[in-house]
Amino acid sequence: MIIQKQKPFEKIQEILQEYEKIFIAGCADCATTCKTGGEDEVAEMKTRLEGIGKTVTGTVVYDTACLLGEVRKTTAENQAAVDQADAILVLACGNGVQTIGDHLESKPVIPGVDPLFIGEVIRAGKYEEKCQACGECILDLTDGICPLTRCPKGLLNGPCGGYTKDGKCEVDPDKDCAWILIYERLKERGHLDKMRQILPPKDYSELHRPRRHMWERPEKKKKA
Ligand code: SF4
Ligand code: SF4
Repeated sequence: MIIQKQKPFEKIQEILQEYEKIFIAGCADCATTCKTGGEDEVAEMKTRLEGIGKTVTGTVVYDTACLLGEVRKTTAENQAAVDQADAILVLACGNGVQTIGDHLESKPVIPGVDPLFIGEVIRAGKYEEKCQACGECILDLTDGICPLTRCPKGLLNGPCGGYTKDGKCEVDPDKDCAWILIYERLKERGHLDKMRQILPPKDYSELHRPRRHMWERPEKKKKA
C-alpha cells in the first residue's frame, strides 16, 4: 500500500491558481484506503473547488491509477470532460499522477496528494512503514522483521548500544528497537543462532533509479 495524505486545500488552491476548468481523478486502490482520493474525497474536492469559483468538467475514480491499460480505457470513457479541462487534479500517489500525465501528455497533471511510504494499514488512519523495496529481501534471516526499515539507522547487524532497558529505540523512544523485536522473535521460535550471523552490507550499486522490472509470461502448453 502506498500510504499518502492529501495536500492542504490551500496548497491545492495555490497550485491550481492559473487554471479555471479542472478534471478530478482519484484511485480506488491506495488512495481510497488512505481517504485521499476515493469516491467521497473526489466528490468533496469537487464541491470545494466549485466553492472557490472553479469549473469542474468531470470526475473519475480509476480502479487503479497506476495501471496504464486502465487509465487509457477509463480516460477514453471520460474524454469529453477531460478535453474541456485546463488541468487534471490527481488525488492519487505520484505513480498515478505520472501514469495519467504520461498518457495525456498535453494536459498538465497536478498532484493533490503527498505520498509518504510503502506501509501496512493497521486500521483506518493508522499506518506504519515496514518495507522500502530494497530489491533483495532478507526477512528470512530476521524472521519477518525488516531492520533496514524499522531501525532508524537501517542497521543490518544490531542492536546498537542505544536501546533502552524497556526495549525502545534511542532515536525515538516511542518506537520499539527493531533489533530487540528481532531478538525476541528469534528466541521465541528457537532461531537464536541467526543472531550470530553477520549480515553483509547491501549492494546498493544495483539500485539504479528509475528501477525497472520485466518478466516474460510463461508460454502456455499447447493442448495435445
Ligand atoms: S529487506 Fe526490508 S526493505 Fe528490503 S524488501 Fe525486505 S522488507 Fe523490504
Ligand atoms: S536502538 Fe535499535 S532501532 Fe534504534 S537505532 Fe539502535 S538498533 Fe536501531
